[in-house]
Parts: sequence; structure tokens; C-alpha cells
Amino acid sequence: MNRPYNFSAGPAAIPAEVLQQAAAEMLDWHGSGMGVMEMSHRGKEFIAIYEQAEADLRELLAVPPEFKILFMQGGGLAENAIVPLNLSRAGTVDVVVTGSWSQKSQKEAKRYASEVRVVASGEESGFTTVPDPAAWQLSRGASYVHLCSNETIHGVEFQQLPDLKALGSDAPLVIDFSSHVASRPVDWSRVGLAFGGAQKNLGPAGLTLVVVREDLLGHALPICPSAFDYKIVADNQSMYNTPPTWSIYIAGLTFQWLKSQTEGGATGIEAMERRNMAKAARLYDYIDQSQLYFNKVAPTARSRMNIPFLLRDESRNDAFLAGAKEHGLLQLKGHKSVGGMRASLYNAMPIEGVEALVAYMQDFEQKHA
Ligand SMILES: *Cc1c(COP(=O)(O)O)cnc(C)c1O
Repeated sequence: MNRPYNFSAGPAAIPAEVLQQAAAEMLDWHGSGMGVMEMSHRGKEFIAIYEQAEADLRELLAVPPEFKILFMQGGGLAENAIVPLNLSRAGTVDVVVTGSWSQKSQKEAKRYASEVRVVASGEESGFTTVPDPAAWQLSRGASYVHLCSNETIHGVEFQQLPDLKALGSDAPLVIDFSSHVASRPVDWSRVGLAFGGAQKNLGPAGLTLVVVREDLLGHALPICPSAFDYKIVADNQSMYNTPPTWSIYIAGLTFQWLKSQTEGGATGIEAMERRNMAKAARLYDYIDQSQLYFNKVAPTARSRMNIPFLLRDESRNDAFLAGAKEHGLLQLKGHKSVGGMRASLYNAMPIEGVEALVAYMQDFEQKHA
């Protein structure tokens, strides 16, 4: 079945093979007589699905043994509260603001931490840059430092995580990697906690992934809801309460799909990284030489996953989007705070989808020159 190419920022495209397998198993998972949505989360069938998903994710992302993998709910926005509830110890929290999502995290943390400091901000540039870590004004004794490693709305990505120790801070680094998890390897030696909603690059909405270093568990504020206390969640293998079973299952199928991917001799996440670099380069190179389209983000800070672009003549936006849809190129409308278009090139987007988008953009530019 030939489906249109879906550029949604999230919930986003899921590999067709994953959807086909889920469809085939919908009524009867592996001869159990039950669909996955109908199983007890404590039964042996679902436990097997869960354990496989966790093991595959640990292997794919090379998560070291001293980190716990938690499957939670509430999305990235709930984590903006859950992280300070667990990690702030009512002390100072440092935040690097590089776009809408880290801005939201900063505001929410203020409700739980006694002090939240913006230690660097890209706001003056209109969120087109990542402030140089050497110039960050890190606090002494901060409970943690938060950043969003890929800003989904502004299209700004950290190409490298900061080494906080080298910058003179002992605080653990917290990253919101919602929109680029599994698109590239993670340097866990620089991370204390990473969180992300699944609906961008891992599967359906409803599942929130948290990867947390063990020594950060067990310090939740007394007001932290038990179901959101990382230690309680970890001690109960993410089954303190009913986990989002269907979303975990689909994410698990996606992990298997990721493990099977190859690109130029690489497999898994390395394969995805190569493919994602090639996809992003194809689109940015075209935009940069075009007379009609432009992208405002500094080249070193450009996201491989979310590529906002504007038309020099904004009055043609609607015509662009309508034509794109006719060509089988879906959900390209930009976020309202940035305007224009946004192409999200998550793992499920093949290079052919990017080629089709560039061909359409070329055609549209010629017609409207
Ligand atoms: C989508 C997104 C969120 C919000 O996730 P919800 O599941 O809607 O709460 C948070 N951070 C980033 C970087 C995102 O892309």
C-alpha cells in the first residue's frame, strides 16, 4: 500500500511495517486469543512484551546498567513538573532556554524549585542559536541543569551535549529529548536524566520514556504523587499503576524495526543517524540555494529532525500547503508561533519522502518565480 508522506511534528508517522504487524496481531497476539489492549499488564504475555521492549531499547540507545528505564505517562509536559518534583530537592534549578519547550520547562519548574535560573538563552537571536556552553552562568550547587536537546518548534538542536563537569558544575544534566530520541546516539556519560514523549519518534502518544541514573532516585519532594515518584516507578518495573500497555507494545515493535535497519554498513541507531543526516542535508541544501524558501536557524544549531522554513512571499503559504497535500505530502504547516512550514523528518520518514518534498518545492518555486 502506497501511503502519502507524513511530515507531522507529532503525533507523527510510524513505520508501515510496525502498523502492519500491529494490525495482523490486533485480535490475537501470538496465539494467546487476546489483543494486546485486552491483556492484564501483570500477565506473562504482557510482561514478555514489556521486557523485550525494555531490553531492545537499552541495546539500541546503549543505556548503561546504572541507568533505569521507566515507561511512564503524562508526556513531556508532565515531566516538566515530575522532574523538579523528584530532582530539585527544593533547591536551585538551572535552565538553558533555547526555544518554546525549554521555556515551558523553566516556567513549570518555578512551581516546585525554590529558585530557577536561566543560565543562558537563545531568545535574543529569536531562538535561532544554541548559546555557547563556555558562556553559561551555571549556579553553584544547583540540583540539576535542564536543557531541551532538540527544540521541536524552533528547529534548534544540540549537536553535542555539554560536559557540565568541564564547565565547573557537579549538577546532573537533564535533557528533554522528546523529538530526537533514537535519531542519534546519546552520550550517557554527560546525562543524569533524559525524558521524552513517545509520539515523535518512538510510537504512539500515551507513553513517556524516562532514563534516569540510579543515584538520582529517592529524593522526591513529599508532595510528589506516588505514581510520579521515580523511585517507586523504578522499584515496581514501571508497573506501580497500569502502564500504557498498547503504546509500550507499539514502541517495542518500533524498537525491533530500528534494530533491523541498516545504512552504509551501520545498523540500529547509527544507521538512523546516517540516514537522518542525509535527509536533513538534502532539504537544508535545497532551501539554502532557493530564492523562495529560507530557514533562519544558524547552520551549527540546525535540527536534523524538525526543519521550519518560510516562503519569502507569505501570501503563498496556503497555496503551498494545498498543493503539497495534492502531491501526497501531509502535515507541513508550521507551528503558529513560527509560521510558515515545518518538515519533521523522524526515523519513519524515508529519504524518498524528502526527495518527493524537494521535487514539489522546486516545482512550486518555478511556477511562482
Ligand atoms: C512534543 C514535545 C513535548 C510535549 O509533549 P507532550 O506529550 O505533549 O506533553 C515536550 N518537549 C518537546 C521537546 C516536545 O517535542
